Amino acid sequence: MTAARVLAGGRMVPLLDRIAQKYRLTAPVQEDGVVLYRRVDGGREVCLDFGLPLVPPKAHFFPQTERLFSYNAADGLELKEPPGITASVLFGVRPCDLRGFAALDPVFGGRFADVYYRDKREYTTVVGLGCTTVRPECFCAAYGGSPVDGQGADLMLTRVGESYLAEVLTPKGEQLVRRCAEFFPPEGAEEAVRAKAALGRELEARFNRRVDLAGVKEKADALFESSYWGKPAHRCLGCGICTYLCPTCHCFDIVDEDRGDRTGTRWRCWDSCMFRDFTLHTSGHNPRGSKMERVRNRFLHKLSYHLDRYGLPGCVGCGRCIAACPVNIDITRVIAEIKEVG
Ligand code: SF4
Ligand code: SF4
Repeated sequence: MTAARVLAGGRMVPLLDRIAQKYRLTAPVQEDGVVLYRRVDGGREVCLDFGLPLVPPKAHFFPQTERLFSYNAADGLELKEPPGITASVLFGVRPCDLRGFAALDPVFGGRFADVYYRDKREYTTVVGLGCTTVRPECFCAAYGGSPVDGQGADLMLTRVGESYLAEVLTPKGEQLVRRCAEFFPPEGAEEAVRAKAALGRELEARFNRRVDLAGVKEKADALFESSYWGKPAHRCLGCGICTYLCPTCHCFDIVDEDRGDRTGTRWRCWDSCMFRDFTLHTSGHNPRGSKMERVRNRFLHKLSYHLDRYGLPGCVGCGRCIAACPVNIDITRVIAEIKEVG
């Protein structure tokens, strides 16, 4: 399902105002010098000129800290669940992060669906926003992505000149456009469609990193016992920032906060496979007790394990981990080294 419309550039802020009246709106905002996704009340708060938000929008469906339920066991057992989900719009999701949702969906869905994730996914309309620049760390093309690819969005917007091409990709996107119909006149989209294709070609030509993944999974698997992993592990600080900022990472911990009076709250919080305690057993045994094993696990998860489990890569080439690692550990260099060593 693809229907194309044009949104005049000057109508974006009023459109976001309208969306905020009808939905719970989350969008990129400038906060202390970085761009983050936040709940907003109107278009003026939204940052429209940005590269890639620091923290991926996975937090909308899988929050950094999430209350699963509160309990009161003082007299029987009373459980208090979080308030019901309201219809939401997640605006301004870049193409690589749209693909990140595809990687997370089978983890939290499938046979044993996680209701907290599933309900937010179900009640959220995702509005993608095509890139207008390519950052030095970007390599989404290696995974078949593109700076203007709308796969995974309900409605995809791409800035072309003074307007936005609006592509309606799902029934949820169609409903949003119908509820804001006066912003999306039905005629005149052909030129914008051509301009988007040209923009895609121009941005793809600007990629700094050309990453060839052919044979990398097989070589990475064959290197499981190799001492190669000692090389990146020697530098790694184990800070976990690469995993927190990754749109596909999904390690979490469950914490019961007991107030000591038979009441309390169960929380789910992001965790990281780069931390020693993440795999520490109560017995004291740790199956990934060394940093080398943890670094190897992270890269094998990205390049092999996620593919084995779900048929999708565990990386979308957003480059956040490359930009944020304090000791310059670079997944594209690791890929090149795996090809050399393997
Ligand atoms: S960001 Fe770099 S130093 Fe920190 S855990 Fe990841 S690879 Fe190691
Ligand atoms: S591994 Fe790095 S480049 Fe790949 S999706 Fe995660 S943060 Fe982005």
